[in-house]
Amino acid sequence: MPEPIYTSREPFVEPESTVLVICCSSNAFLPYTQEFLERQLGLGPGSYDLLAVPGGPQFLLLTEYLPKFAWVGHRWVKFLVERHRLKRVIVISHEECAWYREERFVPQFLQKFGVGKSLKDRQREDLREIVHALHALGLPISVEAYYAEKSSDGKVHFVREG
Ligand SMILES: [Zn+2]
Repeated sequence: MPEPIYTSREPFVEPESTVLVICCSSNAFLPYTQEFLERQLGLGPGSYDLLAVPGGPQFLLLTEYLPKFAWVGHRWVKFLVERHRLKRVIVISHEECAWYREERFVPQFLQKFGVGKSLKDRQREDLREIVHALHALGLPISVEAYYAEKSSDGKVHFVREG
């Protein structure tokens, strides 16, 4: 057996989780997301299952354009909810998400930019559709959606979208 190179400060515990958080893996937004979860929703580190992937919960809407992505995502969500008996799913998108600017994943024809419609509007619409998509999985869960955006004072606001 090789010698360990690091040992945790605290002994291992396996806390109970009833919450799944699906958010973007963006290194810039993740710390604020964790702060929001802890300070506003009372969900400290280790108290929720985390699915942090590029674009966050947007993969749930790719059933037609990238069905394999959507299939994998649905499997992850179902696996976690069923295996851990989760009751509550929290989805969070953020402003300036690079995933949305990536033509390979969110092509122009799916971007739905209409007159006066911004990327923010598109993301907020997506969040509402994501809530429907999660309910359509038929799991016994409640769903909450939030949008993180930079405010004029340089901080990050979280607003509820559904
Ligand atoms: Zn992102």
